[in-house]
Amino acid sequence: MRLKDKVAIITGGGSGMGRATSVLFAREGAKVAVVDINAAGAEDTVRRITSAGGQAIAIRADVSNSEDASSMVSGAVAKFGGLDIIFNNAGIEGEGRFTAEVTEEQFDRVIAINLRGVWLGIKYALPELIKRGGGSIISTASIAGIIALRGSVAYSAAKAGVIGMTRVVAAEYGRYNIRANCICPGFIHTEMADRIAGGRPYTEEQTHRLSLFHRFGEPEEIAQAALFLASDESKFVTAQPLVVDGGWASK
Ligand code: NAD
Repeated sequence: MRLKDKVAIITGGGSGMGRATSVLFAREGAKVAVVDINAAGAEDTVRRITSAGGQAIAIRADVSNSEDASSMVSGAVAKFGGLDIIFNNAGIEGEGRFTAEVTEEQFDRVIAINLRGVWLGIKYALPELIKRGGGSIISTASIAGIIALRGSVAYSAAKAGVIGMTRVVAAEYGRYNIRANCICPGFIHTEMADRIAGGRPYTEEQTHRLSLFHRFGEPEEIAQAALFLASDESKFVTAQPLVVDGGWASK
């Protein structure tokens, strides 16, 4: 088991990549605090873990809210006795409008959840990771933080911000044996992807355009990247954006 007896917080654990990662980390021996603003989603993930013999608790929190972010960390520590890994993965997609059409409220909401929420998770996790003598911080950025995607001004700014924040945290806390990395997914088949499609099936042209394998990624493929970054197998890897996009950004 690659995460035996490690304690992990996973935000956005009630769906998509967060759920796949929660299930995989638990299978690899971690005790998982599954955090989501959608309590029912988090509880469903926990049921999947515990029915397979794993250990997990559900915590309802809005990652953009300081009190919630602080209590998700203290709740995980109270239950499992410490913290080794945080995967700041919760995020929203925004409205898909061009820059001049985005309202201030829409811009602020995407930044609050996708950027401030990641910072709050890191901020409250750090003292607990230091107490443990080290740990792994992983955050979900996006290929949108690297290449231009029309209709994603706030989202791209937030995800590029996560990449920058990751480097700063790695530089500041490396001396505590804390690593910070982020994952830049390409197009991954989750509920978010279904919402972006607006209920319409994706065309063959779209699937060809969005990866070199002519298919979308699966949440489990992001979970495997997160497992690598969480485990000791990546113990000399820090400050990195790990692109998991089926080669989309190379086109
Ligand atoms: P998803 O919608 O399936 O899951 C996101 C989860 O985050 C949901 O359970 C949702 O309830 C939760 N969430 C939303 N706002 C929250 C908040 N304020 N506090 C706590 N939880 C909140 O989406 P997903 O595709 O699994 O997305 C996971 C991450 O991956 C996001 O950060 C997203 O931006 C990023 N991402 C997704 C794709 C993709 O193609 N799906 C590509 C690149 C990056």
